[in-house]
Amino acid sequence: MNLHTHTTYCDGTAHPSDFILKAKQLSWDFLGFSAHAPLPFPCEWSIKESELPNYTSEIHQLAEMHKSEIKIHSSFEIDFLDGLGFPSLKFEEIKKSTYLITSIHFVPNPKADELKYLEIDGTYSQFLLALKSYDFDLKKLLQSFLGATEQMLSTPIGCVKIIGHIDKIILNASKTSEFLELENWFYDELFQIALNSTSQFDFIEINTRAMYKKGLSNPYPKLEFIAKLHQNNIPLIINSDAHHPSELDGGYRNLHQLLTQCGLKDIEKTKMKL
Ligand SMILES: [Zn+2]
Ligand SMILES: [Zn+2]
Repeated sequence: MNLHTHTTYCDGTAHPSDFILKAKQLSWDFLGFSAHAPLPFPCEWSIKESELPNYTSEIHQLAEMHKSEIKIHSSFEIDFLDGLGFPSLKFEEIKKSTYLITSIHFVPNPKADELKYLEIDGTYSQFLLALKSYDFDLKKLLQSFLGATEQMLSTPIGCVKIIGHIDKIILNASKTSEFLELENWFYDELFQIALNSTSQFDFIEINTRAMYKKGLSNPYPKLEFIAKLHQNNIPLIINSDAHHPSELDGGYRNLHQLLTQCGLKDIEKTKMKL
């Protein structure tokens, strides 16, 4: 199964029905669609506000059509924005979801007079622009990300809450020369944050996208961190963050091999209340 999927309604490259066809070929019981929710500023990869009713009604129709074979969920990946919380929860279509994936793709710009955001999940040049606003101090930028993560984990959303790619900032941060000496500190802080708010979320996602898309050897979060979460009984769920049906089970085989090697077989607790 996979609950993290992007279609042509946002930045994915195929129609929802193509994903369903593929999920049925994989004999899956569940499939969830999670369009990037609208942001309070222009963003080329999120669903248009005007498309929200079409998206939810189309997914619901498809769910009805295929209900004897597979359970389909209409959901969203919603951004947490430090200073604004989850602004997209104002939309009825989003509020009504059975589950939501909560993610951080932006941190506030400390140099701006009003609330402005910097993307940390885009290209490396975009990341460097963000770093520049933090005076090229990586620790300061990571602290801002951790602060936002802490708030995201403890802010209620009113439905099943899956924390999306919890350490995604390392995609770009790890390319800087300063990261190596901050890595242990970063993961210790992140672990404490997760541990302190276990009652306020349902799952932390193991996201395989970097494994099949960037050729990286670790998912988000990295294996060592997954092991620590598992040892502390934090529920985990595996998602591929697919943008095309061919990516629905992207990285899964590789991940399962790695988990088995690390003695972490069958760690996914997805027999969930969905
Ligand atoms: Zn994301
Ligand atoms: Zn995503």
